[in-house]
Amino acid sequence: MSDSPTRRLHVDLTGQTAIVTGASRGIGKAIALALASSGAKVACVARSEGKLKEVADAITAAGGTAATYVADVADSAAANSVVEGVVEKWGQLDILVNNAGITRDTLIPRMTDEDWDEVISTNLRSVFLFTRAAASAMMRTKSGRIINISSVSGLMGNPGQCNYSASKAGIIGFTQTVARELASKRRAITVNAICPGFIASDMTEALGPALEEVVKARIPLQRLGEADEIADAVLYLASGSAAYITGQVLTVDGGLTG
Ligand code: NAP
Repeated sequence: MSDSPTRRLHVDLTGQTAIVTGASRGIGKAIALALASSGAKVACVARSEGKLKEVADAITAAGGTAATYVADVADSAAANSVVEGVVEKWGQLDILVNNAGITRDTLIPRMTDEDWDEVISTNLRSVFLFTRAAASAMMRTKSGRIINISSVSGLMGNPGQCNYSASKAGIIGFTQTVARELASKRRAITVNAICPGFIASDMTEALGPALEEVVKARIPLQRLGEADEIADAVLYLASGSAAYITGQVLTVDGGLTG
């Protein structure tokens, strides 16, 4: 039996629209491609115009529909304008995936104000800004799915990541509260978080091969996860099958925190 996924989750999102932040590479790119291949029109958000275009071109080449928005996710006006742009272009917003994130790792005595502020702004403020804008649009249509990408670092301590852990733990509290605020008998809006463990991407490549082996030894399934495995968790939470799940945290970490 293969130790990595050989088949993908099949979900029908035909006619739906989605925004994915941090869609230019890594996990966000996998999420954008998975949502598009499930039939959703996907708005891809990041700062790198060229990389975003590559993702949108791949979606279009596969027969899907994509738009690109070059934006800093920590910018309030940009968040509003992306959500308004999508609603204007495609009529509604059904799915928001808050995925953009960065690390600025160092131990607390050496952590600068900038290391702290940049990580909190990019990882946590962005989730607030995009969710606030999306909530208004989703409340109008009385339905929607908001999926926030947190991390196992938001569930457990990880030396060198106090800024990152705080941002990711913040996402979990934010998710639980907004899920309760947006839930009602008349509105089918769910808000959930996913906590990936160590997933192969540019972010984890920075670990280097020696540290990667140390990390793998700590994971019960003894391998890094794949971006597609996080994309499948997003597809599930975006699907009709997950309509009764809200305010929850889905951990996808090979057993690391189990
Ligand atoms: P990645 O490969 O470094 O990609 C990060 C994405 O976020 C890129 O598309 C980047 O695009 C975008 N981004 C960063 N800052 C931005 C900003 N200010 N404005 C707009 N876009 C911005 O990271 P990844 O591994 O795919 O991680 C994706 C998410 O999963 C992050 O939230 C991360 O914390 C979380 N996560 C990852 C792992 C892992 O092991 N990889 C584990 C747990 C959680 P541009 O640079 O083009 O702007």
